[in-house]
Amino acid sequence: MTREKQELYLQYIREVSEAGGDMDKLREALTGVAYYYHISAIEAEILGDDGRGIGQKEVVLFERENASPVGEPVRYVFDPDGSSKIVIYVYASDRPFEEEEKEELGLFCAHAGFFLELIRLRNFMNSAGTIQFSTNLYNVNGYYERIAELVSQGNGLGSYSSFCFNIKSFSDVNRRYGRKLGNVALEGYASLLSKMILPDEVLGHMGGDNFIALIKKGRQQWFIERLGDIPVEIEYKGKKEKLHLGATIGIWEIDRDDINIDDIVARAYLGVNQAKRVHTNISFVTEKLVTQMNNLKAVLEYYDKALEDEEFRVYYQPKVDSRTGMLVGAEGLVRWFHDDKMISPGIFIPALDDNGTIISLDYYVLKHACRDIKEWIDKGYDPVPVSVNFSRRDLKDKLLAEKINNIIEEAGIDKKYIEVEITETVDEEEHGVLSGFIDKLYRMDIMTAVDDFGSGYSSLATLREFQIHTLKLDRSFVNTDDFSWKDEIILRDVIHMAGELSMDVLCEGVERDDQLALLNSVGCYVIQGYYYDKPLPKEDFEKRLIDKQYKK
Ligand code: C2E
Ligand code: MG
Ligand code: MG
Repeated sequence: MTREKQELYLQYIREVSEAGGDMDKLREALTGVAYYYHISAIEAEILGDDGRGIGQKEVVLFERENASPVGEPVRYVFDPDGSSKIVIYVYASDRPFEEEEKEELGLFCAHAGFFLELIRLRNFMNSAGTIQFSTNLYNVNGYYERIAELVSQGNGLGSYSSFCFNIKSFSDVNRRYGRKLGNVALEGYASLLSKMILPDEVLGHMGGDNFIALIKKGRQQWFIERLGDIPVEIEYKGKKEKLHLGATIGIWEIDRDDINIDDIVARAYLGVNQAKRVHTNISFVTEKLVTQMNNLKAVLEYYDKALEDEEFRVYYQPKVDSRTGMLVGAEGLVRWFHDDKMISPGIFIPALDDNGTIISLDYYVLKHACRDIKEWIDKGYDPVPVSVNFSRRDLKDKLLAEKINNIIEEAGIDKKYIEVEITETVDEEEHGVLSGFIDKLYRMDIMTAVDDFGSGYSSLATLREFQIHTLKLDRSFVNTDDFSWKDEIILRDVIHMAGELSMDVLCEGVERDDQLALLNSVGCYVIQGYYYDKPLPKEDFEKRLIDKQYKK
């Protein structure tokens, strides 16, 4: 097939897909794609009519042995019955077809229509019915129906806790054992779960590796403990293996009988998201969290417009060398002014982080910080370096370092005025990307800082190979009331090691004399915290730039 014909063909598939093509056309399309491209696998994902999907590419339609997928899959959307969508992923391969593979593929293509019909049917059953096909547990519909039944039998909802949980690192299981065995593991998991449920409790499967349960409050703690380790047996390469599956759990302890039934899952779901965000296993949903999330939803609808209208402002929090009392730097922290109210970043940043739009804000803050610094220089002040936060999510942009460099250069200021703050990671893959990013910035003469060090999983050993300029100790190092001699030793060691690795050390969130004295005694002198100043509006920070001297 010539290049133009290939293009025409793809164009045709796109049209079919956009028009919500029928099964015959889909089969024709797939046959063509499969023959003329080197393919490693074809997968299908089914989206329900609410578009939420079931979280996994559930059905492997075709898979070639020993052919590694290359790059991102091509995605085709089909809308066979107007209410649900089937998304087909075609993975390119690094290897052309052998003759017999062609035959196999031919056979598959002949059956493609049939397979897809099956998926459609299954999807129909899942949405119209009450059972999740793959695990035999209730789907969301069935779950609610069963709950309504319990209520009608006189069970008050206020005596239950609503659980929503997600199997930990299940994608690793799929990756390691393949999707087929992954599904077997999922079935095993579901079957063990159902044995943990009493007749007046309910268990459901939302699809993928997401489950829901309504558990009697008196058994809540027991259920939590069991979810921590569910031992699922699978057979891999002829040998039995035991997988110990844990879970990230969101819990809403239902506090009254007359609740909106949709809230049962929705609230517990908030809890899972919250737990993932703060890297804990369990999160209990509070009224405060619910209100925050509701406000946030409303507010996020304005985000694009707010960015355009420059509703975001950069505040500057001073960094002070406690030995001399001199201002030595600042951190740029974003604030959102909307309808005369200030919204703090703790509220909207996690949400922007979740939906991936944080990057536009981070560039915005960097641009504004650069612009302010330029203005200060032009006014004849002597600015201090300003650090700007970048989310780890931003690393998805392969050109992040280059873009940061461009923004600073375009602003016409010296690179010494900007430092990039980013948090550490435990994920190995991310670790590699982060290291590459920091390395690039180093070669571009841009300083970097590791933010919130010590708040999560960070360890100095992993930072050894990075060219980091500053280590920012998290405020949790100093804000405990019962600071022990053990903590002191750790702190002393960290500071010592950072020194050996030629990093500067700074501590955040210092508020009191005793915290400062402690830090000084272990060799940390640069301080950012309310002790000296809160984050200040630009105009107030300018005054600090002129004087630069704090009390010692
Ligand atoms: P962070 O980067 O660790 O920033 C330090 C936070 O600690 C700031 O909160 C600051 O106001 C607060 N803080 C400073 N001194 C003290 C103190 O003495 N006591 C207490 N209790 N808190 C203190 P803020 O401004 O609310 O920012 C929260 C987080 O939001 C930041 O934590 C950062 O992770 C994120 N953030 C802020 N601006 C941006 C941004 O432009 N981009 C990205 N990606 N994240 C941002
Ligand atoms: Mg920071
Ligand atoms: Mg921090």
